[in-house]
Amino acid sequence: MPLIHDQPLDTFNTFRIPARARHYLRVDGAEQLAAVRADPALAALPRLVLGGGSNLLFTRDVEGLVLHMTGQGREVLGEEAGKILVRAQAGENWHAFVRFTLEQGIGGLENLSLIPGTVGAAPIQNVGAYGVETKDVFHSLTAYDMASGATRTLDTAACRFGYRDSIFKHPDGANLVVLDVTFALPRAWQPNLRYAELGNAVREAGLTAPTPNAIGLMVEAIRRRKLPDPREIGNAGSFFKNPVVSNAECARLLAQFPTLVHHAQPDGTFKLAAGWLIDQCGWKGRHLGAAGVYHKQALVLVNLGGATGQDVVQLAAAIQADVAARYGVMLEPEPVFI
Ligand SMILES: Cc1cc2nc3c(=O)[nH]c(=O)nc-3n(C[C@H](O)[C@H](O)[C@H](O)COP(=O)(O)OP(=O)(O)OC[C@H]3O[C@@H](n4cnc5c(N)ncnc54)[C@H](O)[C@@H]3O)c2cc1C
Repeated sequence: MPLIHDQPLDTFNTFRIPARARHYLRVDGAEQLAAVRADPALAALPRLVLGGGSNLLFTRDVEGLVLHMTGQGREVLGEEAGKILVRAQAGENWHAFVRFTLEQGIGGLENLSLIPGTVGAAPIQNVGAYGVETKDVFHSLTAYDMASGATRTLDTAACRFGYRDSIFKHPDGANLVVLDVTFALPRAWQPNLRYAELGNAVREAGLTAPTPNAIGLMVEAIRRRKLPDPREIGNAGSFFKNPVVSNAECARLLAQFPTLVHHAQPDGTFKLAAGWLIDQCGWKGRHLGAAGVYHKQALVLVNLGGATGQDVVQLAAAIQADVAARYGVMLEPEPVFI
């Protein structure tokens, strides 16, 4: 097993935060995971499963074993109940996979274009954008259970998807390593333009009968305008989840802040726009040391060059304190702190 010791992780996280892994292994299938289990010294180490490193913040070196998911491969499996089943290995680049489906005329993933990271990580936080979440297009996945050594198939119910949440973020799913994911994409495709910004862009472009590919390209254009490219400015996308508050809490806030951006949820709660709260506290474009708040989008924290994980943690804490003091709402970080 080609185990590497003292591996730098700077280029394996989109924040470009310096960190090292005491032990590092590239994993392209269950065989390497079984070998780790079979080696008592390796099996005893704390583990970090790593995809594209686009939803992580390294605050220290990893003293255990990094399992870097690199498995490649994707295939159209066929049709089932009006859905086209498409499978990809965990290490496939997410956007390249989306493009693969769109280039074959298969719709369903276009709203999730240009999200960084790997296919295997998409179910972990139920990746979502422009009104679509992974759970909406998900069929099943294969996972290796590091505790039992079994390979398991999990369907939508078993994954327990929620807003930026799934079983994999909870103790009973923490030992599962995703090996491949199968998506169920509609044969009878309809555009999903419920997200106002996307719907408006499609209308303004005069697209009366847009194809999945045309919508995918439009999503890419919108995202390029709004979000920093991690190849140029280190970041992990949205740094905070949009807080969800009760009806009563939302009413209390609206009485005091009538322009509060809020969206009703099907369960009667309200989702607040974390970026708006941060912006209102005056953080957009500001920085603490080498960690800053992106000047075009207050929800994105950026590495202005040479930031450490602790710099970002301090900036995030200062923002959380200001938002809590002004609105009584605690922002919860979206990336995983390591
Ligand atoms: C510019 C930018 C824009 C973004 N936009 C969005 C967006 O619109 N919507 C959105 O939801 N997210 C967005 N993100 C966040 C990020 O792209 C997603 O969370 C993505 O799914 C992370 O994939 P990754 O492979 O980089 O995961 P990593 O960061 O490597 O890992 C994230 C978590 O998943 C776990 N993990 C990774 N792979 C596996 C596996 N195979 N098995 C088990 N556990 C695994 C890791 O242990 C870790 O806990 C954005 C990030 C950036 C930088």
